[in-house]
Amino acid sequence: MKRLGEGESYKYLGSPIGLRAGDQLGDLLAKLRKDLDSVRSSELAPWQKIDALHTFLLPRLHFPLRVTATTKKSLARTDTMVYGAVKEWLYLPQRASREIIHLPSHLGGGGYTPLPVLKDCLVVTQAFRMLTCKDPFVRKTAWYSLQEAVHQRLGKIGAPPEKRVLCGYLSGDAEITAGSTAGATASLWSRARRATRDLQRLCGLRWEWSVFRHDISLRLSNPTPHSETLIIPSTSRHRACGLIRRAIGEAYRRRLVAKKDQGKAMEAVTNSWDSSHFLSTGRFTRFCDWRFIHRARLNVLPLNGARRGVLNASRKCRRCRTEDETLPHVLNHCPSHSAAWKRRHDEILSLLRDALPPKWKARLDQKVEGDHSRLRPDLVVTEVPGGTVHIIDVTVPFENRLEALHAARAAKMAKYDDLAARLRCRLQFKQEVHLGALVVGSLGSWDKENERILSRLRIHRGRVATLRKKMVSAAVKWSRDIYCEHVSGQRQYDCDVATTTDID
Ligand SMILES: [Zn+2]
Repeated sequence: MKRLGEGESYKYLGSPIGLRAGDQLGDLLAKLRKDLDSVRSSELAPWQKIDALHTFLLPRLHFPLRVTATTKKSLARTDTMVYGAVKEWLYLPQRASREIIHLPSHLGGGGYTPLPVLKDCLVVTQAFRMLTCKDPFVRKTAWYSLQEAVHQRLGKIGAPPEKRVLCGYLSGDAEITAGSTAGATASLWSRARRATRDLQRLCGLRWEWSVFRHDISLRLSNPTPHSETLIIPSTSRHRACGLIRRAIGEAYRRRLVAKKDQGKAMEAVTNSWDSSHFLSTGRFTRFCDWRFIHRARLNVLPLNGARRGVLNASRKCRRCRTEDETLPHVLNHCPSHSAAWKRRHDEILSLLRDALPPKWKARLDQKVEGDHSRLRPDLVVTEVPGGTVHIIDVTVPFENRLEALHAARAAKMAKYDDLAARLRCRLQFKQEVHLGALVVGSLGSWDKENERILSRLRIHRGRVATLRKKMVSAAVKWSRDIYCEHVSGQRQYDCDVATTTDID
């Protein structure tokens, strides 16, 4: 056995043991900061830098954070640095919400879990895995050690505590230790208790003991947008870390969406993973789109109507001078950009038309044959063979919360409802007539309701995923061009290309 001097440590199963063993992590963090600087100054695209951080840098800390007792203070410097780097890569200004950095990448954020939160998550996972270990010897030793730690904390009064009390202790219940004068000894269990208490504020984490199942489990609150509770049983022990991190991501999403200003568009964006497909790969995305989209979704772009702390400055639009210059006005309402809206709408429409089965008959922006009304749906498709008729209208509303997408769809359906009914009568119900609206937000929000239209149009499964991405990126591309033209006065696109439809 090696004799250690003061300040020395040795590694046992990857965990540094000894007085001041936390210093081991200090070296690791210093190396990570150095490598982060290299990534920062590299020629990689911003999405590649984010990917490199998540693939090569942060996973290095996972095991050491799981097994080493370390303070949150020691992580602060590295945490601030990583946070700053991700914010820089997303081109976000100072006043952008913190939550966007911590939001998972598939929801349109930086995907960076703060290191202190990650540490808590890993410590809880480690404790859970020890108590549910498949090896009975390890499991029993872990339970015994927990029982001893709690018994000691309670001052060794009475019989050793039951498992229900042990779970209460790990959950941080104050009444368990109330009245005890015994000092706490640092151990994995005291760390797990502190970590659980901190995570409770984010994702309502609790430890539970079921007398019926004779099993320990973890309980999470609001783990997904549509569920209130999730129980992680011992049989899912290997998924515990991923599930807790997912619940943490969801907590950040809820916090961001609840924000009055910066959460508005993000509510619609985070409703579908397709809205942020470019975050990890940069597919179909120009560098200028990347620099625009994150700021636009948080509404932190410099516009007259969105200025903060500037008194007596005009809020009016610099082009039409009638309305306040807000992002919805610029991207969807300012008349000076009507030609670009048409192109944005047309590009999405032509992507849909190009994906249709080859022999189907498609009519773009024309009156329905034999109908007296002046309505011109964007796309009327007749299936061959089969004769089923699809009437489809494309719309690109601004994401003023998720309801705006629903309202845009409802308005389109109401507009063409009578037309579809007349067509059904005229065809004497021999041919089916489907009416649908394809909704893509001007900041690239994909409406999940669109799926029904794509599946009705029998677009090949292999093509649907790419089609969604292309449509989202087309909306982002045009919105960026509209915004840049608005502020700079410079035309951002080729004017010679003719549009195919009238937008309404
Ligand atoms: Zn205007």
